[in-house]
Amino acid sequence: MRFGPNTRCVVTGGLGFIGSHFIEKTLSLGWHIINIDKVTYASRDIDLGGNPRYRHIKEDIAEIADLPFCHLIVNFAAESHVDNSIDGSMPFVKSNFLGVHNLLEILRRRMQENASKSWSYTPPLFLQISTDEVFGDILEGFFKEDARFNPSNPYSATKAAAEALVVAWARTHGIPYMLTRTTNNYGPHQHPEKLVPMAISKCIKGEKPIVHGSGEYVRNWIHVEDNIDAIMTVLQKGEVNESYHIASQEEYTVVEIIAKVLAVFGKPYDDSTVDSSSDRSGADLRYALDTAKIEALGWRAKRSMDKELPKMARIARKAK
Ligand code: NAD
Repeated sequence: MRFGPNTRCVVTGGLGFIGSHFIEKTLSLGWHIINIDKVTYASRDIDLGGNPRYRHIKEDIAEIADLPFCHLIVNFAAESHVDNSIDGSMPFVKSNFLGVHNLLEILRRRMQENASKSWSYTPPLFLQISTDEVFGDILEGFFKEDARFNPSNPYSATKAAAEALVVAWARTHGIPYMLTRTTNNYGPHQHPEKLVPMAISKCIKGEKPIVHGSGEYVRNWIHVEDNIDAIMTVLQKGEVNESYHIASQEEYTVVEIIAKVLAVFGKPYDDSTVDSSSDRSGADLRYALDTAKIEALGWRAKRSMDKELPKMARIARKAK
């Protein structure tokens, strides 16, 4: 095992959807977590019962001047909603690109300072959390880890650019990295701007879930806890300076997802139960990742949407 109890880990964006699940998991393993999150509309209150191994620093990764001592940095911090990136891309450039640049530069400076004093220093491992969207769409087949970037919106362009920084800082300055690209996550505590919680929230309020455009575009859906298990597998068993794809076996169109959520509430999918008035189009048709590399490490997604959606609906109802 590469990272045991007492691992000191800097998590960025740990008040967001995926980062908060990662923190809950790693605190349960005895890790010490320093969470750097500037707190945006996407953040949530996490109740960790005053755990003494957890600390939150309210800072922007693009502006922070230094980082605490740690063995590992896991960078979840990002502006993550594609629609927002189309309306205004600068916050995405700042957090997703300049933020990663700033973190890498802090590590580079620390390496150089130690080298100039001939002090031995092992830089922390930098895990960059990325997305299937960097490749753009694929109508058939699956993208392997070495496929060509072809981002088609400002969000995915900044995520692709950040990946290039991470790989370049490893080659030029020797900062060790790992990189995961994940498909669409779903699960408890996701912000209702995203498709699944939006549909659940609308159904609870007795409103109609919104279907943008034809709703025919296809995404792979992974439960957030399967993603966290995959990230832990990569951290413990993966190769340094390599990237890994994380996806489930569940591919659905937007229409199929909304139909599944409606079924949880005992409703059919038809013109009377969904709002199809939005004419937004231009979404990529299908994203798909090949997961052979991470499966060779012994990981495979275990959870299924049909079992998890009713649980999500129960949690969302209680939170109302
Ligand atoms: P999220 O939007 O729920 O949370 C992001 C968190 O990062 C928020 O708490 C926010 O305050 C923080 N943050 C944003 N910019 C920051 C900055 N400059 N400095 C400090 N904190 C900042 O995001 P998420 O859905 O949990 O996604 C986490 C990561 O996973 C992102 O990097 C995203 O690109 C990637 N990802 C997400 C999905 C998905 O389906 N949610 C899929 C693939 C990849």
